[in-house]
Amino acid sequence: MFIGHYAVGLASKKFAPRASMGALIAAPILLDLLWPIFLLVGWEHVSIVPNNNPFLRLQFDSYPISHGLVAVVGWATLFASIYFGFTRYLAGAIVIWIGVVSHWVLDFIVHVADLPLIANGRVYGLGLWNHRWLTIAIELAMFVIAIWTYQRETRARDKIGLYAFLAFVAFLLAAYAGVLFGPPPPSVKKLAIFTLLTWLMIPWAWWFDAHRVSTGSGNDRIKESS
Ligand SMILES: [Zn+2]
Repeated sequence: MFIGHYAVGLASKKFAPRASMGALIAAPILLDLLWPIFLLVGWEHVSIVPNNNPFLRLQFDSYPISHGLVAVVGWATLFASIYFGFTRYLAGAIVIWIGVVSHWVLDFIVHVADLPLIANGRVYGLGLWNHRWLTIAIELAMFVIAIWTYQRETRARDKIGLYAFLAFVAFLLAAYAGVLFGPPPPSVKKLAIFTLLTWLMIPWAWWFDAHRVSTGSGNDRIKESS
């Protein structure tokens, strides 16, 4: 799954309106932020295989540290704890924990059986990726609902709050189209380096979110008005 993970981050603003979108986006994409690092140091392995279905061009040979469920729960707990340590914002920490784990759950739905619970264990995956148009339709629907939710929970207070957000959305859609209709990655190394660039989505999300204000329709409304 690709933009579906970003959808989780955008929509989660509703449940933690005082959390920065930088942290809320980082949570559901965290595993894919770690994965290219582990690829580059050789701890995890992927192969590029020819396939007409663009979703099936990567064969995830081994990735228990970034995508093994036991490790994922550990990453979620670590990230949520660090976040809570800095902010003391419990709703934000809970949403971040769920966000990190949601990545595994959504990947479990779309991936063919390649997701482990632990290293060298059995692998799981329901394989929605075999149905590419259905996958695209579901992911786009999630993305649209998330954008609608986020723009309802927040309001731009200046031009950056509007245009940096719209550019973020447009960039993700263009990147998704690139994956769907572009050529396969030329090499694992280039794939890893390209994937590393997704780290830049965190400051970008923080940036537009800092230029938007909460409309106060989120779940924190009662707490904040008291
Ligand atoms: Zn992933």
